[in-house]
Amino acid sequence: MSLSQLARTIHESATLKLNQTAAQLRDKGEPVIHLGGGEPKSKTPIDAIVACTGVLNSGDIKYTPVDGIPALKKAIIRYTEEHYSRVVKPANVIASSGAKQSIMVLLHSILDPKDEVIFPAPYWVSYPEMVKLAGGVPVVVTAEDGSFCPTIEEFEAAMGSYTKAVILNSPNNPSGVMYAPEFVSDLVQLCEKRDIWLIMDDTYNRLVFDGRQPVNCYEYTKTDIEQSKMVVINCVSKMYAMTGFRIGWAVGNKEVVTSMATIQSQQTSSPATPSQWAAVGALNGVQSSIDSLRLTLENNRNILMDHYRAFPGVKVTCPMGAFYTFPDFSAYYKDSQKLSQFLLEKVRVVTVPGKEFGMEGHLRISFCGGAKETTEGIERIRWALDPTSPNELYLGDRRLVRDWM
Ligand code: GLU
Repeated sequence: MSLSQLARTIHESATLKLNQTAAQLRDKGEPVIHLGGGEPKSKTPIDAIVACTGVLNSGDIKYTPVDGIPALKKAIIRYTEEHYSRVVKPANVIASSGAKQSIMVLLHSILDPKDEVIFPAPYWVSYPEMVKLAGGVPVVVTAEDGSFCPTIEEFEAAMGSYTKAVILNSPNNPSGVMYAPEFVSDLVQLCEKRDIWLIMDDTYNRLVFDGRQPVNCYEYTKTDIEQSKMVVINCVSKMYAMTGFRIGWAVGNKEVVTSMATIQSQQTSSPATPSQWAAVGALNGVQSSIDSLRLTLENNRNILMDHYRAFPGVKVTCPMGAFYTFPDFSAYYKDSQKLSQFLLEKVRVVTVPGKEFGMEGHLRISFCGGAKETTEGIERIRWALDPTSPNELYLGDRRLVRDWM
């Protein structure tokens, strides 16, 4: 088949593929535990459902402005003022079909062929592929000290004449680290000095633990938004557990936002109308669901961390936010794809190989499911790997005997 060169270089989203694998195995009755997921278990907030069903019941579901209905833009403007202390105009805001589309149309708006986009490892699986789709070249910065946080000097060393943008996702998927405020400040200054776009992927920034405050990138710049090359990405997917609605947004200067809307108009038109109304409901409604999700996640994280502490040979950084851990299993397996496959085959636990996030030897293990499921999942993993574990394990009434050690 004569598929394009571009199509042949793009890899499928590992995270989405594994969601499918888990669902298929469950449909077959397999006792699968999905620790590879990227979506909270909680239900859509009632205010979102009411707003969405209101428009569905009207039966009047038509095209909307490409960059979002006025009510959604208004809600996003209010959100930006409340959480970033920035007053922006409707022309600075675009709503898209998920944060992914906002990032994608942004990359299409700013990249010329061969332009480079820098991001730190570990990174969200989609960044390299999205940059390639937009004709750019992904450049990964890996911290020399083995941490998940490269220094500002390491970022600067990666910058060259082709560097067009930097993407920072904090808290980070898959490690859960938050980059230090001093680092974010330095990065904002560096990007301004070098006239580079800074894409702040704030998808998880309401889900931070231990009383931390999300880092607000606007605090570190005095540049007027119309002169600024900083673009902030957000979505309803994670903080309101509304992944299926596919609503994300970007806030940036008017010129880039207009270009993003032009590209979106040719790509998909507006985001789905009922979903936009659901997002309005969520953003304007009672916000307590975010707090209860955060507390649930924090509790799950603590449970998981206790299990890691008792797991010989596993090194892990305690997540400060989001809902992922990124432990280093290289004492057991160097090849993360083989390890992930092994765990799926032997104990029916879905994990995402670290290789997909730019770091071998690690696995992404999520804690966005229930505490019981998370506990059972990590216990199964330990049973499969730790030679000091008992020789047999029951998955329901299925008896497993460890015959691989
Ligand atoms: N962002 C989530 C994840 O990393 C959802 C899936 C995706 O779009 O990658 O699992």
